[in-house]
This record gives sequence, structure tokens and C-alpha cells, in this order.
Amino acid sequence: MESLSNRIVSLSPSATVAMNQKSRDLQAKGVDVINLSVGEPDFFTPDHIKEAAKKAIDDNFSFYPPVSGFPDLKKAIVEKFKRENNLEYKPEQIVVSCGAKHSLANVLMVLIDKGDEVIIPAPYWVSYIELVKLCEGTPVVVHSGFESNFKMTPEQLEKAITPKTKALLICSPSNPTGAVYSRNELQALAEILARHETILVISDEIYEHINYIGGHESIAQFGNIKERCVVINGVSKSYAMTGWRIGYFGAPVWIAKACEKLQGQTTTGATTIAQKASVAALTGDQECVADMNKAFKRRKDLIVRLINDIPGLRVYEPDGAFYVFPQISAYFGKSFNGNRIDSSNDLCIYLLEHAHIAMVPGEAFGDPGCARISFATSDEKLVEAMKRMKDALGRLR
Ligand code: PMP
Ligand code: GLU
Repeated sequence: MESLSNRIVSLSPSATVAMNQKSRDLQAKGVDVINLSVGEPDFFTPDHIKEAAKKAIDDNFSFYPPVSGFPDLKKAIVEKFKRENNLEYKPEQIVVSCGAKHSLANVLMVLIDKGDEVIIPAPYWVSYIELVKLCEGTPVVVHSGFESNFKMTPEQLEKAITPKTKALLICSPSNPTGAVYSRNELQALAEILARHETILVISDEIYEHINYIGGHESIAQFGNIKERCVVINGVSKSYAMTGWRIGYFGAPVWIAKACEKLQGQTTTGATTIAQKASVAALTGDQECVADMNKAFKRRKDLIVRLINDIPGLRVYEPDGAFYVFPQISAYFGKSFNGNRIDSSNDLCIYLLEHAHIAMVPGEAFGDPGCARISFATSDEKLVEAMKRMKDALGRLR
């Protein structure tokens, strides 16, 4: 007899992971699917990083690592925060985990009690809501649409705060919209937060290096809230290392210690070989990061142009990350062979089945009028995918 916990029964599966799997299953059956669903760089991990991993194997890094991460990796992370973000941390404020998703899960797990409210600006990344719910917290979603460039205003933040607010969970550059908060915009949010001394700020900066408007700004830079910020980052996106599963954060010592305790009972830390590879990523030549960013920028320009050429779609030009989140609701109410399309979900299924392109429906990100396209793939595939999309949408009546 199946008797799963309520905790897992009430957890929704990740829509990004599910769509990626659906696309892989179709590909395995020989269908020529262009997968624009999952967000991962299509580049190979740079050679110097792979060499460091091979060396770690030869050097017998085959024993359990320190639970919160190897000292040389923590040192590299401290230096990265100083060099790139002008944030000062001590090694005891850093915890290395099995991907930024795991860092986020750990942080929420040690902070959120039943009924604690976590403010989440929408459109949000799929996993935020479910992770908060897994911790029995209450997500408080603040909607910001196209008109406000998909960014939460200080007024919206102020209005969402209640005596139960435990944390704000913010993502810039944003998955799924590509919106990037400017220094001034972050400062305005920080000023509100400074007046509410018990609210913690969890800042997901995993797309830091995929930025088309210049430098990255972290909300943790503001002295009035720095002591309450957790900055989450990782090597997945910046160094094309999604499969290596290394994420990390910088936080107040009490949060880092709690996460170390949690990891001590759950994972015993992240894979040794991947940690050594991450040292090479963070301390080595950063040209690979700039090269990949250049390619993403070219693809961003391309896909925005291609989408603008499709009647009825409206697209916000992303300032960072590698997603576009076009509004597709003009097609709701139309039909194909008598099947009505009433939602982003319906439209994505139609496009998967009839155009063989995989995208993620907007429902998963808290904006059902849009759909997410990852453009972390080749220019040729983007051109072909948008051609298929234009044709398929044109067949709807
Ligand atoms: N945050 C955001 C916004 C993401 O898009 C991702 C991508 N998976 C993650 C965190 C987690 O990244 P990873 O676990 O691969 O480090
Ligand atoms: N962050 C990526 C995405 O949103 C990877 C998939 C995942 O980890 O959910 O598609």
C-alpha cells in the first residue's frame, strides 16, 4: 500500500524538469524536437575546469569532504564575492551545496517555520513556491507584469509586508523574464527592508554573469540590510557546469552554521571532484565567462527579432539570463482541428506536438499569459524553432 507523506504528495513536480524530460522522451523516439525548455548553457565545461577535476581524481580526492566545503573552494568564493560584488565574507559564512537549488532549499529549510510568509515577486522561478511550501511556509506572491518591466516596486513590497513576513526571495537577473534590477531599484527596496528589521533577504544571483547591460548589482551591497542577506550563487550557469551540481551562498554565520548542520545530516557536503573543478572555475581565467556571455547576447538579439516577427506575440527584451518570456495570450480562444487553446499550458502542448518545440508554460512561473523560451541553444536551432512556431501559430483559427 502506498503511504507517502503529505509533504511529498502536496509538492508539485518541477515544470522545467518535466518539460525537459518530455522533450528527451520524444527525442528518444526519433522526433526532431527543438528543446527550448530547460535553462542550461549548451556549451561544454571549459577545458581547464575539466582538467582540474581529472587531477582531483588522480590526487585521490575520494574521501568525504568537509560538510560546508573544502577550504580552498570557500577561499575562492570569499575572493569572488570581494572581487566581483565588493561583499566581504569570512569562510565561516560560506556553505557549498549540491547546486544553487540545494543551497536555496537548505536556506529555506533552516529559516522557515509553519506559517512564515516569504515574499516572492512574480514571475518567479518554478521552484521557489514549492520549496517554501515544502517548509510549510506561505508564499506571498507579488505580481509585476509587462508594464512594470516585470520588476516589483518598493510600494508593492511595502504592501506585501505583514508581521508574519520572514523573508523576501528575489532573483536578478530573473528567471524567467530576464529582468535585471538596477542599483537604484535595489536601493529603493533595501530602504523599505531597512525599516523592517526582522525580514531576511534571500537573493538568487545565479545568472550574475549573464548580463547584457553591464555590471551586476547585488541587493546585499547596502549596509542597512547586509547583515540580513543571503546571497545564493553557483557555477552552473556562469561556467556551463549544470551537471556538476555545485552551488554556494554567503550569509550571516548563524545561517551558515545551521545549513552546515542540516547538510551534516543529509548530504555530508557536495562531491569532492566537482568542488575541485569549481576552484578552477572561480580562480582560473574568466575569459570563458565573457565568451559565453557574448554568444548569449547575440542569441538574445536574434530571438527577440524573430519573436517580434510573429503576429500577436509581445516580448520584453531581457537584460540578463538566457530566457525570453513572451506574452502569448493573443492566441487563447483559437483552435486547431476543433481543439481550443485556452491557456499557456494548452499552447505549449500544441507547439510541442505540432511544431516539435518545447517551451515551459507561464503558469509554472506565476504568469499564465506568457511562456518561457530558453535561448541557450544554437542560432540555427533558434531560427528553425521560431520558424516552426510562426507556422504553427499561423495555423490556429
Ligand atoms: N535559481 C535559478 C533562478 C535557476 O534558474 C536555477 C537553475 N536551475 C537555479 C537557481 C539552480 O541552479 P543549480 O542548482 O543548477 O545551481
Ligand atoms: N534553472 C533551470 C530552468 O529553470 C534548470 C532546471 C531546473 O533546475 O529547474 O530551466
